[in-house]
Amino acid sequence: MLTDAYPTTLYPFRFRRLAPDNIVAVSETGDHIFLNDSTLSDLVHRFANFSAPQIAELKSKFFLGPPGGTPGLRRLISSRIAAKHETVLSGPSLHIIVPTLQCAHSCRYCQVSRALDDEGHTMSMDDLDAACDTIFESRAQALTVEFQGGDPLLRFDLIRHAIERIQTRNIGEQRHLRFVVTSTLHQLTEEMCQFFKAHKVYLSTSIDGPEELHNRNRPLPGKDGYERTLKGMSLARRIIGVDAVAALVTVTRNSLEYAETIVDQYVDLKLHDIFLRPLSNYGFAVKNAHALSYSHAEFAAFYAQAFERVIYWNRQGYPLREVGASIALNKVLSTHDGGYVDLQSPSGAGLAAIVYNYDGFIYPSDEARMLAEMGDFGLRLGKIGQPLAQVLKSPVQRDLIQASLGRYVPGCDECAYRTYCGPDPVNTYGRFGTTRAPIYLTDHCQRQMWLFDYLFQKLHGEDEDFLNLAFEWAKPNGG
Ligand code: SF4
Repeated sequence: MLTDAYPTTLYPFRFRRLAPDNIVAVSETGDHIFLNDSTLSDLVHRFANFSAPQIAELKSKFFLGPPGGTPGLRRLISSRIAAKHETVLSGPSLHIIVPTLQCAHSCRYCQVSRALDDEGHTMSMDDLDAACDTIFESRAQALTVEFQGGDPLLRFDLIRHAIERIQTRNIGEQRHLRFVVTSTLHQLTEEMCQFFKAHKVYLSTSIDGPEELHNRNRPLPGKDGYERTLKGMSLARRIIGVDAVAALVTVTRNSLEYAETIVDQYVDLKLHDIFLRPLSNYGFAVKNAHALSYSHAEFAAFYAQAFERVIYWNRQGYPLREVGASIALNKVLSTHDGGYVDLQSPSGAGLAAIVYNYDGFIYPSDEARMLAEMGDFGLRLGKIGQPLAQVLKSPVQRDLIQASLGRYVPGCDECAYRTYCGPDPVNTYGRFGTTRAPIYLTDHCQRQMWLFDYLFQKLHGEDEDFLNLAFEWAKPNGG
C-alpha cells in the first residue's frame, strides 16, 4: 500500500498477450513482469492498492517511481538503457574479411555465388592490408576478426598474412583480439592447425545434421562433404584443442523432419553450442526456394521441437546451448549486453559489424555482400581503404541507422519487445528492395516476435530446469 509521503506514478511500459490470461509487460529498462487481465487493469488504474512487496517489485523493475523521477533515478534508467545498446555504441567490434569467394561446394541454399577460379574472386594484397589497418580505426577495445568466404582456407596465405599484420599492429594498440575462420574445414592441414593454435584462432563450420541431410544440403562431386568436415574437425581438435571448432545449422525444408536427430548429432559430436539458423531469403536460396524454403509456422514447429531436445540433453547433464535463444535471453534477463551484433537497435549492421569483401568494397553485413553477388550493390558502404569514420557516415549507413530505430518504426514503436529487438533493415532490403517496409511482414520480425513469445511463455512456466538454464545462457559471455 502506498502512502502520500512518497508520491508514486506509473512509468511508461509496453505489454503483449502471450495467452488468454497471460500478459508480459516490459518497462523502458527491459525489466519484465507477468500479469493477467485483472492485474494489468489494477496496475494501470489502481496500483496504490497493491501490497508492499508488489510495489517494491514494480519499483525495482522501473514500472513505478516518483513522478518525473529523481535525477539519480533518471541517470540509473538511462544507464540501464544504454547498457542494452553497448555493442552498437562502442564502434564496430566484428570485422569480417572475405579473402576469396572460391569454394568447392555448390550448396543449394548458398547466398553467395561460389566461384572456383581465383581470377577476380580474391582480395588484392593492397586491399587486405588496408582492411587490416582500418580495423584499428574502430573505437572498440575488443575486436573479433572473422575470415569468411567462399572457403577462406583455400587462401590460407592471405589469412596468415592478415593475422600476422594485425597482431604486429596490436603490439602498440593493445586491443583484445579474437580470430575466427569460417570454413568447411576440408582444406585444413596440420600446418594450418599449428598456426591457428599459436595465434589463438577459432574455427567455425557448418554441420546441418546427420550425414545424409548434410550432404543433400551441401553437395560435392564426391558426396563426401560431411565426412571431410568431420575429418577437419577431428584434426583441429587433436592439434588446437577440444574447443577449437564451433558449428552451426542451416535449416532447410529437408531439415524439418530431423529436429531431434540434428540436436542428437551435435551431442554425438561433443559440441556444446548449436545455432539453429533459418534460411535467409537471399541468393541461391531464393532460386531454390520451391525446394528449400518453408513457412514461418513450419520453422517455429521445428525450432520448438529441437529446443525441447536441447533442454532434454541439459537435463541429462550434457551442457548444450542454443545460440539464438541465448542471444534473446541475454537481452531479456541480463542488464549487460552480451556483445552480439544481432538484435540491436539501431541495427548492428555497420555500427557493430563490418565486412571487407574480396571485391574491394565494404558492406554493413554478410547479407549485404551476398546481395551484391546477386547484382544489387545498394548496400555498399564504401571502398576498402576509405577512413572508417567516412564509411560510417555514408548515406547508406545513415539510412540503415534511421530505418532501424525501433522507436520511430510503426509497429516496433508499440512492441513490447522493442527494448530487446528492432527492425533489421538489411533483411527488409533483401526481401523488399527497400530498408523500410511494414514491419510485421518482415521475416525478421515474425521470427523474433515468435521467439520472444516462446521464451517468455517458457520463463513463465514452472520448469525450474529451464529457468536455471535461461539465466546461465543469459550471461554476457553466453554461459
Ligand atoms: S522487429 Fe518486430 S518483434 Fe522486433 S521490436 Fe519490431 S515489432 Fe517487435
